[in-house]
Amino acid sequence: MTDVIIIGSGPAGVSASLYARRAGLSVEVLSKGTGALEKAELIENYYGFPEPVSGAELASRGIAGARRLGVLFKEAEVVWIGMDDTLTHFVVETTTEKIETRSIILATGAARQSLPIPGLRELEGKGVSYCAICDAFFYRKKPVVVLGGGEYALHEAQVLLPVASSVTLCTNGSDAPAGVPEGLAVCTQPVEAVEGTDRVSAVRLADGSQIEAAGVFVASGVAGSADLARKIGAPLSGSHILVDEHMATAVPGLFAAGDATGGLLQIAKAVYEGAQAGISAAAYVRKQKGISQ
Ligand SMILES: Cc1cc2nc3c(=O)[nH]c(=O)nc-3n(C[C@H](O)[C@H](O)[C@H](O)COP(=O)(O)OP(=O)(O)OC[C@H]3O[C@@H](n4cnc5c(N)ncnc54)[C@H](O)[C@@H]3O)c2cc1C
Repeated sequence: MTDVIIIGSGPAGVSASLYARRAGLSVEVLSKGTGALEKAELIENYYGFPEPVSGAELASRGIAGARRLGVLFKEAEVVWIGMDDTLTHFVVETTTEKIETRSIILATGAARQSLPIPGLRELEGKGVSYCAICDAFFYRKKPVVVLGGGEYALHEAQVLLPVASSVTLCTNGSDAPAGVPEGLAVCTQPVEAVEGTDRVSAVRLADGSQIEAAGVFVASGVAGSADLARKIGAPLSGSHILVDEHMATAVPGLFAAGDATGGLLQIAKAVYEGAQAGISAAAYVRKQKGISQ
């Protein structure tokens, strides 16, 4: 079993991997692309570069350094994190596999803006959900809509299909994804609003028609930091993961670092928090294995 799975290969995830690896842990970093640095054209406020450096260059240097120490990097989209049935270790589910691990560091970057669809925010907890595995039970034999058009949305829809009376994937204007499973309806029209007063009752589309829905599951794009934290019950403050000074969340063995925890959204802060999370994960795993510090 892997000692620590780090989700995210940005500055926070890579920094965490250096410290965890150098403390003797087996470390695997999973990521779906570069993250915020991909968009950073030139950086001139980070230590050690006499000339400005591009975000892409900084990212690849960071990963190369971690690889040299033996950190494994894998391109993978994480759709769920949770505990195994015996509650003794974590399970990280990607679109292609399930991986068991002793600890997890969430370094998934800033939370995405929630979709600007009227009714969505107002009906959170009243039919609007962000976790199919957590909430599917409440929608037994009821119609539900999944908002999103990628692999993450398909994963959430697949969890709901055996439970709900009908599941419609609303891509909100994007093309239908490949690999739509049998029984899943797909609607590609833009979504105008989520309807309902006390509870969700329908999704209204651009042409004025409505899809009846008792629940709306939001799964737009890739599962972000807040989505993954919600799945395992780690408390949030707004869309930021709550951590203590050791980067520990309220779930033992689960740590978070970087933009995912809010505050200063800068590389220096992500690197510091990643380092702390790596050290904390190492201490946690050593304790789990009964190794003295
Ligand atoms: C345009 C722009 C310019 C910037 N310029 C500067 C600057 O000049 N100086 C500075 O200090 N900061 C700058 N920043 C901010 C800086 O890039 C971020 O603060 C920093 O990258 C945060 O690091 P992070 O590791 O927390 O997250 P990120 O770098 O965003 O990395 C997140 C990682 O999580 C992965 N991920 C997310 N969800 C999943 C999932 N479900 N499954 C698998 N992987 C997932 C992503 O693929 C990525 O690898 C800039 C940001 C932008 C957007």
